[in-house]
Parts: sequence; C-alpha cells; structure tokens
Amino acid sequence: MALSRSARRSSRWLALATAVASAATIAAAPAATPGAPGIGDPYFPGLGNGGYRPLHYDLGVSYHPDSGRLDGRATLTARATQDLSAFDLDLQKLTVDRVLVDGHRAGFSRAGDELVIRPGRTLARGQRFAVTVVYHGVPQPLSGPIVFGSKYGWMKTKDGVFVACEPNAASTWFPSSDHPDEKATYDIRIDAPKGLTGVSNGRLVGTGEHGGRAWFHWRESRPMAPYLATATIGKFDVRTGTTPGGTPIYVATDPTLPAGKVDVYGVTAAATDYWSKVFGPYPFEETGAIVDDMPQAGFSLEVQSKPAYSAVRNETTIVHELAHQWFGDSVSVRQWKDIWLNEGFATYAQWLWAEHKGTATAHDSFRKAYQGIPADDPFWKIKVSDPQRDTMFAGAVYERGAMTLQALRERIGDKAFFKLLPTWTAQHRYGNADTADFIRLAEKVSGRRLGDLFHTWLDTRTRPALPGK
Ligand SMILES: [Zn+2]
Repeated sequence: MALSRSARRSSRWLALATAVASAATIAAAPAATPGAPGIGDPYFPGLGNGGYRPLHYDLGVSYHPDSGRLDGRATLTARATQDLSAFDLDLQKLTVDRVLVDGHRAGFSRAGDELVIRPGRTLARGQRFAVTVVYHGVPQPLSGPIVFGSKYGWMKTKDGVFVACEPNAASTWFPSSDHPDEKATYDIRIDAPKGLTGVSNGRLVGTGEHGGRAWFHWRESRPMAPYLATATIGKFDVRTGTTPGGTPIYVATDPTLPAGKVDVYGVTAAATDYWSKVFGPYPFEETGAIVDDMPQAGFSLEVQSKPAYSAVRNETTIVHELAHQWFGDSVSVRQWKDIWLNEGFATYAQWLWAEHKGTATAHDSFRKAYQGIPADDPFWKIKVSDPQRDTMFAGAVYERGAMTLQALRERIGDKAFFKLLPTWTAQHRYGNADTADFIRLAEKVSGRRLGDLFHTWLDTRTRPALPGK
C-alpha cells in the first residue's frame, strides 16, 4: 500500500479438539467441537478462523450502482483440520439469506463480525467440504486510524466501485477467512450494468452479456490473501498485451482521467520485467493496473496481479505496488505485525528503481531520508518489528524498514544481498513468513551474524547510528 501523499512521516489458536474421553469409555471418538473464531493475530483477534483451511473461493458478485446493492453468492471449498461441529466465516454487516454445506441447508447465526455455521452433520478432520453463502446488502467502507485515516474497502465511485481492502475489509464484501495466513485460489464473477467493466485478479477467462447486464469471470489460480482480492467496477478503457519479458498485462484506466502524466502501461511492463530480474520470476499469471478516479481514497493498493491506483499515478507508486507482488502478495506476512516485510521492501524497491534509472543510489536515498528526520522526531519511536495495529502503516514501517535493508546491504555486500532477495521470494513463494525467517535466511546467505543489526533497526525506539563509512 502507498499513501497518495509522500509517505515519509507519516499460534494460530490451538483448535483443541477437546477429547474428554471418560475413563470408562474404550476407544471413545473425540468430540467434534467448533472451530476458533480467529487465528490469533494480536492486531485482529477475530480475523481468520480455526478448524479448517481455505482452498478455493468461487465468488459471484452482482452489483447495482444506483442502489449500491450487492447480491452475492460465495462458495468456499475448505479442508477441516479438526472434527468440526461448527465453524466461522468473517463477514462484516450484509445480510445472509441462506447457507449450504455440501449442498445441504446449514444453520447459521451472527456474532459481531463472525458468521457461525452449523452444518447438519459433523465434518471430520481431513474432510474436504464446500460452504455456500447467499447474501446481499450495501457494503460499507471501513474507516478509522489504520489506513492513513482514509476510508478503505468497498468504495463507491461516480461510475461503480473501487475495492481495496488492506488490511481487514475483504469481509465487508464477501464471507471469508479474512487473514493473509488463509490463502486460497479464486474464481471471481462480476455482474454489472452493460457499459461497465468488472476488473479482478488473475486472468479474464470469460465475459458476456445477458439482458442489460455484462459479466466478467476472472480466475486467480495462484494462492491469494483475501485482502488482495478486488471486484472493481466502472467505465474503463482496457489495454492488454505482453511485456517485453513475456508476462501478459492488463491495464484498465478510467477514461475521465486526464491523460499523459505517466505511462502506466509502459511503467508497469518495465517494472514487472525489471523486478523479475532482481527479485526472481514474476509470481503471477498476469500483471497490470487498475487506474480509477477515486480521490477520496488516500492510497493505492497492491491488489494481486493488478495494483489499484485511486488517485495518484506516478512512477514511484507504480514500482512500489509492483514490488509488493513479490513482497506482500506472493510472500505474505504471517501476522500483521510483520508488515515491514511488505512496506519496508516496497519502499526499498523505490530506491532500487532510482538506482536503476540512474537518478540516485540507494546509499544516497538512505542517507537523505535518514538525515531529513531529526533524532528527536516521533518517527524514530515506532518499533518497526511490532508497530501496533493503529500505526501499522506509519511512515517508519516504510522508511525505517527500507533503511534496515540498506544497512543490511552495506553490511553483507551487494553479492550476498542480491542473492538474498530472490532466495527469499523463492523459499516462501505463495506462502507466509515472518521477520525471524528473514533474519535466519539473511544470516545463512551471508554467512554472518546479523542479530545486532536487525535488533538495532527493527526493535529499538531510537535513531540508530548511520552505518560506518
Ligand atoms: Zn506499500
């Protein structure tokens, strides 16, 4: 995610199947129990769910811009990880009309942002099952301090909707296990009035019209965290092709935007190809961009395979969001406190891009940023390795995170550093990782002890000394 303005300052819960077998009972089967309502992320205790692992979402989203109403049908295929008597999905507001488990009506109730589902019969551990939720309503964006004070999530535009959900707004438009550690593949079908285009993740596998409506079927066949899903709808000019490096590209641009400031298509193609050399093979089937006119959203987001730009469209933002395809989208955080693994790396990518273009070395960008922030500035008080929920997108997570990487590069040298980055993206491709994993790998690749460096840059609440030389 990138702020539209300069961003400078800005255990799993053990789902215990409590097998209370009485001493007198021989070979008693463990009792089926409800899955946990969250996966235990301290920033968002209710997000994600226990007792199953998501495998695939099939989402049908029918949108009516005049009323703002969404009619949805979501089928999640999942695998039970315990004997389940009940389980949850995350769903914020909206109205549930019915729930089916493997085609049979299931009971359900609401408890805050949890949709509690009681299948007609117990789901056995290891069993694959499909839960379908039919629902409707007018999705509301979230607001609050988390995302730079901006609204985020499902946001109405003048011709449709702009959908960008980091960190916790996926569950405002589809029932999900709404945590990055709960990745799945997706089919997303968008249905909207004729004349509008529905843009989503992965590749467009079908489109057509019926009556006064148009439909668009997208397929993301690589694992995706729910917050990276989109169903952005509006009037768009679409340009498709292939990057010089061979990756399919799809760029949707709101035609009412003034043309010409930045060549989004060209920069997207060039950055996708360049990052593929620096960070490792591009992890998804298609690259691209959604360039919408949504100035009320104060940010852009690294939507998987197609970053969504709300207002600002400059080269720096584009290379930042594309770097996230590796750092954030393919390699995702295990818990939200690891967010610097996304934002520090994407900010560092901006410095690498300047180095690539010959405008500034990362060495100089680092010192310029560092020297621009006095030692007594509150910027240095944020603990980057655990920035706390409401300041998880603080400027320090971005810039001090990037400084950490430059300090690392200066310690271990270019050879080890540029081996480390693609090794990291290969080792955790389509998975989740945390800060300790990164430190371990950096030590392994460089053959050096680096605990002091990471502790100084990520864990302390003071301005570290500049690296020597
Ligand atoms: Zn970002």
